[in-house]
Amino acid sequence: MAVPQNKVTKSRRNMRRSHDSLSGSNPNECSNCGELKRPHHVCSACGHYDDREIVAMVDEIDIDEDAA
Ligand SMILES: [Zn+2]
Repeated sequence: MAVPQNKVTKSRRNMRRSHDSLSGSNPNECSNCGELKRPHHVCSACGHYDDREIVAMVDEIDIDEDAA
């Protein structure tokens, strides 16, 4: 088994890890509804992509508790 020749100090380990952090997402505004959405993805709020409706959205789910 390969064995490290030298101890990696906390300083050197932390310097290596200084590039490991994840960057935040970069949301775009939906051109249809203005909601923030992931680039190159269908808008989760209105289901539009490239000014076309891709996913039909249910307008509003009306749950009537008295109906039962
Ligand atoms: Zn939208």
